[in-house]
Amino acid sequence: MGQVIEKRYNGLEVPAGEKVKFVDGRALCPDTPIIPFIEGDGTGRDIWRASKRVFDAAVQKAYGGKRSIAWFEVFAGEKANENFGSWLPEDTLEAIKEFGVAIKGPLTTPVGGGIRSLNVTLRQVFDLYCCVRPVRYFAGVPSPVVAPEKLDVVIYRENTEDVYAGIEYPAGSPEAAKLADLIESFGRKIRPDSGIGIKPVSKFGSQRLVRRAIQYALEHGRRTVTLVHKGNIQKFTEGAFRDWGYQLAAEEFSAQVVSEEKVWAEHDGKVPQGKIVINDRIADSMFQQVLTRPDEYSVIATTNLNGDYLSDACAAQVGGLGIAPGANIGDSCAIFEATHGTAPKYADKDVINPGSVILSGAMMLEFLGWTEARELIHRALGTTIQKKQVTYDLERLMKGATKLKTSEFASAIIDNMSA
Ligand code: NAP
Repeated sequence: MGQVIEKRYNGLEVPAGEKVKFVDGRALCPDTPIIPFIEGDGTGRDIWRASKRVFDAAVQKAYGGKRSIAWFEVFAGEKANENFGSWLPEDTLEAIKEFGVAIKGPLTTPVGGGIRSLNVTLRQVFDLYCCVRPVRYFAGVPSPVVAPEKLDVVIYRENTEDVYAGIEYPAGSPEAAKLADLIESFGRKIRPDSGIGIKPVSKFGSQRLVRRAIQYALEHGRRTVTLVHKGNIQKFTEGAFRDWGYQLAAEEFSAQVVSEEKVWAEHDGKVPQGKIVINDRIADSMFQQVLTRPDEYSVIATTNLNGDYLSDACAAQVGGLGIAPGANIGDSCAIFEATHGTAPKYADKDVINPGSVILSGAMMLEFLGWTEARELIHRALGTTIQKKQVTYDLERLMKGATKLKTSEFASAIIDNMSA
């Protein structure tokens, strides 16, 4: 039943199981992987309890006891601060590093005092350079558009660069003044009362993100990869992202990928058999396209800021902002997480929708190669919503729905796995 691990983390014994290994950025999953989890603050407690029951039920049903998850609690946020006097204990980081794949509920961002966002810290420490957000419709979810089912995209958002790199100086600071002077020496002018932010976009950062997006498309039978950028204006950052993306596709995937330009120039508009298409769209146009021609897009690779906006816009389009899953993925670590916050006013009331963590866990199962369990969760969650058995947030928008508590919603999903 797996190796015994002597080391304790945060004073806790590691359950019997085995480590997930990473080879060339891919997870190799044993039958009993040790998966660290952070239950999260506020509503995280209710959500985690409910979600874990769903994961265990799906794995049990899919593999009949041959596979199981050795859950290992690690601490961050308020619970960590109360118990260990640290918002993000060193042992938590070490455990995630050691076991590679983790899942977390929402965490409070401590306000003030020079404490960084815990989510941002985790992304930086483990170089989780892909923010992955699948967006698809679950029938029955109230949506603001006429045909929400036409949108089914997976967004790969670069997670470490762009204006999110945190290189920013306030107006009036010596650093801003120095930078303005430097820019002036290049013959350009910045108003003296300007705050200044730097937008780095590298070839390395862009290409490793696009590589992952293409690999995902190839492995999951997706038809297109679309590079989304604002290169018409920001030529050397956003425009370069597009160029580096195409270059990588041509250099590393020429046997499997063809550019949209070549499809028209060399193949009379017909995609060669077995190939996927790589194309690009300017960001503002893309916001129109996902509304007007959603079924033309499948995998989207984009820079950090575009990805941030586009992920939420797409999730809103399918009505699923409250149940949107997410993951932050690097070459030797992946953390799956709720995309909403801690919703503190509902903490411990057993009312909140656990869908975001449940679907993030389903993504995690897919990442581990346990697609049967992932499929069970997707289908059962879909059935539960179609039967109008939902938590308060969806119930208030659906006619004739039954309002369930967090725990009851999880039970309904588990019951519907057998349906
Ligand atoms: P929030 O926690 O996402 O909650 C805002 C509102 O969204 C809630 O009041 C609720 O709306 C709705 N909502 C959120 N999650 C829901 C769920 N699972 N089911 C149903 N409804 C849900 O945003 P916030 O109030 O701005 O942030 C609170 C804390 O969370 C802050 O400390 C923030 O830093 C942190 N945060 C963490 C993460 C993360 O860990 N990934 C992300 C964002 C924010 P109604 O009141 O209308 O029902």
